[in-house]
Amino acid sequence: MAGIYIHVPFCYTRCSYCDFYKTTDQQFKDEYIKALCKEIDNQSAFLLKERIETIYFGGGTPSTLSVSELKIILDHINQYTSLKEVIELTLEVNPDDVNETYIKGIVELGVNRLSMGIQSFFDGHLRQMNRRHNAQQAAEAIQIAKENGIDNMSIDLIYGLPYMQFDEWQANVRMAIESKVQHISAYHLTFEKGTLYYDYLKKGKLKEVPEAASVKQFDYLVKELKNAGFDHYEISNFALPGLESKHNSNYWTGIKYIGLGPSAHSFDGTNRRWNISHVQKYIKALETDSAYYEDEMLTEVDRYNELIMLGLRTSKGFLMEAMQQFNTSIIQFFEAELTNQLSKSNVLVKNAFCCVAEDKKMITDRIISDFFYVEEE
Ligand code: SF4
Repeated sequence: MAGIYIHVPFCYTRCSYCDFYKTTDQQFKDEYIKALCKEIDNQSAFLLKERIETIYFGGGTPSTLSVSELKIILDHINQYTSLKEVIELTLEVNPDDVNETYIKGIVELGVNRLSMGIQSFFDGHLRQMNRRHNAQQAAEAIQIAKENGIDNMSIDLIYGLPYMQFDEWQANVRMAIESKVQHISAYHLTFEKGTLYYDYLKKGKLKEVPEAASVKQFDYLVKELKNAGFDHYEISNFALPGLESKHNSNYWTGIKYIGLGPSAHSFDGTNRRWNISHVQKYIKALETDSAYYEDEMLTEVDRYNELIMLGLRTSKGFLMEAMQQFNTSIIQFFEAELTNQLSKSNVLVKNAFCCVAEDKKMITDRIISDFFYVEEE
């Protein structure tokens, strides 16, 4: 079992908080698709060998690609692996790209899950974030998708926005529930280097929200979504039962995947590889058969830290037995830290799995970093 991630780096505008690799220059689309098909050819051995169960178009903005452009990519993949075997085919879309014709077209291609970047149902927030859509377009896009064949949809929300009042966050969560989607991802705003918001933070134009406000928003989100029947299956992700993202769940459980397109990452169980984060250099490298990625073999410490990081972000946690694969010093370090975290009631061990305690989820990142093993120089 394996997955494919396809990075579509094109966006029409830059959102103020976003540090994903993207370009607002649309002129390289045709060459990008050609290069992507070449990369698919380069990965033919993997595609012929593995059973591909999930495909995920992420970005950037995959919905900047037309239905016929998406078809070229999927047809090319279909030469090496049967798309009929794919259980989940997700496309990230921006609300303002959604219309009846587009949704019908992608459903015909086999897309059976949408991930829509809503972020907020308030025009003021959307303008502040430099999103292209407005609140009305967000609500309409969800409706159009549902009416035209999408019955598995995720929407993204952002909390921890410095200018968002608590009652606005409450309204956003309520509107997300009322929109009757099957999956909700909610991310706390982070100020990443290279973004407009990072500059604003440095210049004092924006301030991080106090931790107490973040915790209040997160607690409200968790409580309301649980009441509405959603499982909180990963720190930022909530799904109606059985409708978790299969593709992302596979990342968290260490299943193999290939990443295609600029900046995409791949993992084959032991090796991690990452493509160059530059669309023109990516195209050129594929055209000239030169290097377009770097890779590294995961060390034992990398594998331990990865198990901790991915496992503790999920509500199930990681299987304690998995620790047996590591050397004595890692196991001893883990056991000492486990005792420490158990004494603070930050984690619990349940049915042979170690997970973060329900009321400590907001400090998951801190708990994970305490568990990280750092090799001495
Ligand atoms: S958030 Fe999405 S649409 Fe906005 S710039 Fe980033 S990748 Fe593009």
